[in-house]
Amino acid sequence: TGRGMTLSDILARWARITPDAEVFVDVGTGERRTYGQSHDRITRLANALTAEGVVPGDRVAVIGLNSVALLEAFIAVLRAGGICVPVNFRLVAGEVAYTLHDSGAVVVVADAATVDVVRAARADTPGVRRVITIGDDLEQVLATADPTYRELPVPDEATAFIMYTSGTTGAPKGAMLTHRNLYLHAFSSTMHLGGPGGPGVWLAGTPLFHIAGLAGFLPSLFAGGTTIIPPSGGFDPDGTLAVLERERVTACFFVPAQWAALCARAEAGHYDLSALRKASWGAAPASTALLRTMIATFPDAEIVTSFGQTECSPVTTTLRGEDAVRKIGSVGTPMINVEVRVVDDEMHDVAPGEVGEIVYRGPLVMSGYWNKPEQTAEAFRGGWFHSGDLVRQDADGYYYVVDRKKDMIISGGENIYCAEVENVLAGHPQIADVALIGVPDDRWGETPLAVVVPRDPDDPPTLESVDEYCREHLARYKRPRRLTVVDALPRNATGKVQKTVLRERALDTEAVS
Ligand code: ATP
Repeated sequence: TGRGMTLSDILARWARITPDAEVFVDVGTGERRTYGQSHDRITRLANALTAEGVVPGDRVAVIGLNSVALLEAFIAVLRAGGICVPVNFRLVAGEVAYTLHDSGAVVVVADAATVDVVRAARADTPGVRRVITIGDDLEQVLATADPTYRELPVPDEATAFIMYTSGTTGAPKGAMLTHRNLYLHAFSSTMHLGGPGGPGVWLAGTPLFHIAGLAGFLPSLFAGGTTIIPPSGGFDPDGTLAVLERERVTACFFVPAQWAALCARAEAGHYDLSALRKASWGAAPASTALLRTMIATFPDAEIVTSFGQTECSPVTTTLRGEDAVRKIGSVGTPMINVEVRVVDDEMHDVAPGEVGEIVYRGPLVMSGYWNKPEQTAEAFRGGWFHSGDLVRQDADGYYYVVDRKKDMIISGGENIYCAEVENVLAGHPQIADVALIGVPDDRWGETPLAVVVPRDPDDPPTLESVDEYCREHLARYKRPRRLTVVDALPRNATGKVQKTVLRERALDTEAVS
């Protein structure tokens, strides 16, 4: 009666079919968990949550660095019928309190690294009844919990996760993703990428509280595969490459900034990466220069591009196979299970080659923003989910990301798409990393400012050399009129440049000078 498959069922089924196969491996702690073992721990934690008074639909927050215990906690919440709210481990107490309060969490599972922040946040969140700390506290809970497996009758259209978007463009909103959204994501990823080719070994290279981390490991769980968790605590390219080699990882996902670091070390370290079949990237734009380096560095792996966003569970288009070279710079074509249109502000479809906003419909799209009916209605105006991403389609139906609507610069009435300019600047021999932002200008309204990280700190590029370089590739109005040299760009957990931070800093500079 309305009960479909839930994400928790999937692990339980593999625990019956292949109980001795490894499901999660934590390289940092050395824990290697089989499906049978994890199933038992998840069942016990789910029953403990029920004993704490968690009923179907209740929210349970889970916060911590990537670990096996974190993944088990996610699934245990679902097994108890609850809604899992993953929380960014980098947040300060006030931000954690916002998330706990906004989601109405009743229990929090936290690791040792975050528990102090959670305790501080708890002063402002009386709705939280219990904090379970990963470690001795959790082990105690498991040891005394009822081990009897039961799935609570939750329909598959129930919310499984509330994923707070990281807020690079505004205050965090909780995207409600249902069990169906997420298992159809796992299904379409698997189908679209030509089948799992056996259970496979997945490396979880990005934070699990973020959609890229969550969505990455689900297809592996679906296929009865193994998810490897590299040691937490700062991204270490050599350590990661060593794990890829040692665990014979077959597929992984990293954001472009991580791939740049991995490429820089891969050759020098002589790693044997012969098991690696799929090297995926996404979450933030990658320059064609970086993509060419990836193709050259990992010649035996298929380079897979994923494009999408939290609200779409998250992948909406992919580029793979020969297209990685043939259509370099494109984010590919739509996944199955998602309908795509490119529209203008009046919701009219724009012609191929023209820039419009990409909008989505179908079973991968979230049910709405938690407790935010107005923002939900605004996002779904005209019956389609509005992504805020500007794209154009080529004559063959491949999509290209042009900019985020909120980042687009309007200078003298002309639209400047940051991704295009950043991509050109990334090819400048003295530039290692770059972001373009618009700054107020009396004459043009806004004018482009390039924030650059030099390859050699002692030899930074000048505005003249950048302008000279851009002259070949870009119309005059698109060329940066100002240049700031920095040591590093501010990036969020998934490698996106925090342009709001850059804009604030640029304004500060203005005020001082
Ligand atoms: P907010 O919703 O507040 O903007 P966020 O940026 O963290 O937060 P996410 O869902 O993490 O939201 O990111 C989705 C966005 O990331 C997309 O809308 C798109 O702009 C960008 N993006 C994702 N994949 C790619 C890709 N392959 N190439 C370029 N941009 C990408």
